[in-house]
Amino acid sequence: MRIVLVEDDPELGRRLSERLVKAGFTVDWVQTMATARDWPDLKLTAAVILDLGLPDGDGLDLLRHWRAAGEHVPVLILTARGNWRDKVEGLNCGADDFVVKPIRFEELLARLHALSRRGRGDGGNAVSSGDLTLDPVARIATLGSAPLDLSRKEFALLHLFLRRAGHIIAQDDILEQLYALEAERDRNAVEAHVSRLRRKIGRHRIRTVRGLGYRLEP
Ligand code: CA
Repeated sequence: MRIVLVEDDPELGRRLSERLVKAGFTVDWVQTMATARDWPDLKLTAAVILDLGLPDGDGLDLLRHWRAAGEHVPVLILTARGNWRDKVEGLNCGADDFVVKPIRFEELLARLHALSRRGRGDGGNAVSSGDLTLDPVARIATLGSAPLDLSRKEFALLHLFLRRAGHIIAQDDILEQLYALEAERDRNAVEAHVSRLRRKIGRHRIRTVRGLGYRLEP
């Protein structure tokens, strides 16, 4: 799942990005309001983590701008401890949740997963198709009763396939989900990840639909 992190503090931003990537997210880290304001890929973003004190403005103005533009992406605000005004104003501007600084990463993670669940309108974390099951919070994927040993990218790829089982997923959509915007994007890498995943879950399960993409077969 893709996350946009809007945080100007270089140390906090770097640390959060690293931990989020380790937790299986694809992270686009931006440090200014100007960059975040017209972010091209919000439709593909599972949630935004938004710091309020940005060098070129107030994060709440950014949130107002998005909501006024009809942008519904779940937004989680980072706020200073005890600052209830931030919370009230944040809710009024259309924030979905808060995490208080100093941030406890486990709490941030739990809130992010809850937000993305709400965004998808379902109640559980785990997704499955046939005898394939994946739990993004526990970070476990199984085939039948056997756990699968997947790399981070393979795990993210299987998660994407399971969320859209039976539907064709374009190569570009896979690139969007697996790589941050600034990252080197390479279609050959997608093919390589797909073929490694095929070896682990069975070749027949992921069908190549010529010219269109891939489909996880039920
Ligand atoms: Ca700040």
